[in-house]
Amino acid sequence: MIISTGTASGKSLAYLTPAIASCLDGGTVLYLTPTKALAADQLRGIRDLRITQVRAACFDGDTPYEERTWVRKHANYVLTNPDMLHRGILPRHAQWSAFFRRLSLVVVDECHGYRGVFGSHVAQILRRLRRVCARYGTQPTFLLASATASEPGTFARRLTGLEMAEVTTDASPKGSTTVALWEPPLTELRGEGGAPVRRTATAEAADLLADLVLADVRTLAFVRSRRGAETVALTARAKLADIAFSLSTHPSTVTPHPNPAPSAATHPNSGLAPSDQPDGGDPLTSHPDPGPFAADHPHSGLADFGESGAGEPHSGEREPLVEVGEPLSGVGGAASPQGEAGSAWALPEGSDLPDKVAAYRAGYLAEDRRVLEKALRSGTLMGLATTNALELGVDVSGLDAVLIAGWPGTRASLWQQAGRAGRDGQDALAVLIARDDPLDTYLVHHPEALFGQPVEAIVLDPDNPYVLGPHLCAAAAEIPLTEDDLPTFGNAAAAVLDTLVTDGLLRRRPAGWFWTRRERATDLADIRGGGGAPIQVVESSTGRLLGSVDEPSAHTMVHTGAVYIHQGETFLVELLDLEAGVALVSSAQPDYSTFARDITDISVLSTLRSHALGPGTLHFGEVEVTRQVVSYLKRRLQSGETLGDEPLDLPPRTLRTRAVWWTLPASEVAALAEDGFDLGGAAHAAEHAAIGLLPLFATCDRWDIGGVSTELHADTGLLTVFVYDGHEGGAGFAERGYARATDWLTATRQAIASCECERGCPSCIQSPKCGNGNEPLDKRGALRLLATLLDP
Ligand SMILES: [Zn+2]
Ligand SMILES: [Zn+2]
Repeated sequence: MIISTGTASGKSLAYLTPAIASCLDGGTVLYLTPTKALAADQLRGIRDLRITQVRAACFDGDTPYEERTWVRKHANYVLTNPDMLHRGILPRHAQWSAFFRRLSLVVVDECHGYRGVFGSHVAQILRRLRRVCARYGTQPTFLLASATASEPGTFARRLTGLEMAEVTTDASPKGSTTVALWEPPLTELRGEGGAPVRRTATAEAADLLADLVLADVRTLAFVRSRRGAETVALTARAKLADIAFSLSTHPSTVTPHPNPAPSAATHPNSGLAPSDQPDGGDPLTSHPDPGPFAADHPHSGLADFGESGAGEPHSGEREPLVEVGEPLSGVGGAASPQGEAGSAWALPEGSDLPDKVAAYRAGYLAEDRRVLEKALRSGTLMGLATTNALELGVDVSGLDAVLIAGWPGTRASLWQQAGRAGRDGQDALAVLIARDDPLDTYLVHHPEALFGQPVEAIVLDPDNPYVLGPHLCAAAAEIPLTEDDLPTFGNAAAAVLDTLVTDGLLRRRPAGWFWTRRERATDLADIRGGGGAPIQVVESSTGRLLGSVDEPSAHTMVHTGAVYIHQGETFLVELLDLEAGVALVSSAQPDYSTFARDITDISVLSTLRSHALGPGTLHFGEVEVTRQVVSYLKRRLQSGETLGDEPLDLPPRTLRTRAVWWTLPASEVAALAEDGFDLGGAAHAAEHAAIGLLPLFATCDRWDIGGVSTELHADTGLLTVFVYDGHEGGAGFAERGYARATDWLTATRQAIASCECERGCPSCIQSPKCGNGNEPLDKRGALRLLATLLDP
């Protein structure tokens, strides 16, 4: 069964009750969740019930080795994640025989996270689990819990391979939520190609957060990146500090807050907060006095900081930055930046305004999260900026408002985040703040695309041969595969097995398929990764390991000379050594950011489907994409001015995947050329905008897909625009684009047409991940091209 309902509708109770009953009846329970943090929270909740017959334990990467044997032998309620099930539990199923023999219930919590390629991996892991259970004579019930989704039963069937009943009725008490769609204004700043730049969503979120906190509205701000969340908290704190300062020094010149009621949708900050924009062109803040700290704010508004990892560094910001970067800070306040040992979270007693705002991110310890939750409930803390880490792991109830800085990717996530607001069935406010991006811009201008629409279906493709192959090997290593197992692994299994035998990975014997190699079969599947061994990022002076970057991203993120940002600190990459798998970096404060440029080639391997689209043709099929990062641009942080293009020597990478593409016949192209349009620029602009809008139709984000456009493609012999899945073997996104092409391209055209810029900007046709420096682009040409396709 799958339960698919909104936030705080009581899903946990719905699976805990049968789970505990199973334990009391002598059975065992396996609980799966995408994150260790959530498993730890669940464990605490179960232990708080103090039922002696329930012996619950986590089994994940954090479980000490000396405890693992106890868990295997004695626990009857095991909490783990798909990664541990894949690598730790299933390959050693014999050690778990006592547990599997009594397994009566498998709970798959937060299962809406299992989409795309990751979801396809989890689907195969669950099939392996079912097979191992059958070996020990059990057929456990699967109980899935998901956020609201379209057709949850269909999704659950694809995820588990089992028939599924769905529960979608939510009878929990709820007030009404006022939803505001908020578009930040254009500023005087100029970006790539002289394009106008909008005020950033993070700057607007910080303003709104400060205003709401001032009005005694308990507010949570969701920001896409961790750095963005820290910036929002910092900026809001700085604003509140300014206000506190003004109130204490010039009480007579400051207009008291006009209306402390939660009517923040009218943005009541004029007259109170100083502008944080160096250009002073922010029409929302009319106060002429820049305020005592304004000069300290380095926000250029050029990038939604933190999104690309290449925004401006936060050097030279004042005091609070230091502490916000530290775990456990923010709440502690400026008076105790490091926190005293043992009591790092001493909450301020008084009404010190800035200390009412903090940042939260994943990785905090459970005790710290408890303190944070308590502070929010008591009102000591009024505003919290967070990444979507908070969707998983912290129980925040009792909020009045939610700010969402940037489209969270799906309607399902939007409503899940908005659902955080509204305590005890009271009314609430949710504000979606658009980023400078075609999809966000489209949505704030088209509320009908959000309201009265079903949420997205969760897309995954268990038949992807690149996913299925490694799991068939893992399954054969667990228990040799027989013909009887094939239906469990789906229609594609037989063909994939033949390939695995040909490739020497499996051996075919009369009794079935066997794994006979020495290495671990589970190492073949990288369930969360982008393939390839990750590159370690190491600080050269100290040898400190800062983190890792997956191999495909390394070429663009940590190439030699790149500016790399880690937890708010800025580094320069001295050397990327692909063979050693290391990027050596050193601390630096460059006044520029870097953007990798690449050359991408795409070739058509096979066309699976096609049909006419106006005078052109739409195709879906298999392609090979070859991408080579060839140089990087340095751009000055404040002005966006290009400082130079440095060559790089990196090998090309190839990707076999699926794509949707459209072509236009030469006669139509000639007509466009005669009218003076730049055909390459028109196709390129249409491609960028189409990539930006596809996530409206497929559950992906623009980083999951890529595109190539050309005036004349070698394989088609025509003007062609490709959009491809950025994952080996495909992930179902391009296929969705093919199925919904007319709606998708119509939305793309509307997004370009409704943008008020003249020649193209990040809200319409510029792309933050363009490997070609956003050149050439022809906005009017793109509109003509799409009109030719859509209304011939
Ligand atoms: Zn524009
Ligand atoms: Zn481009």
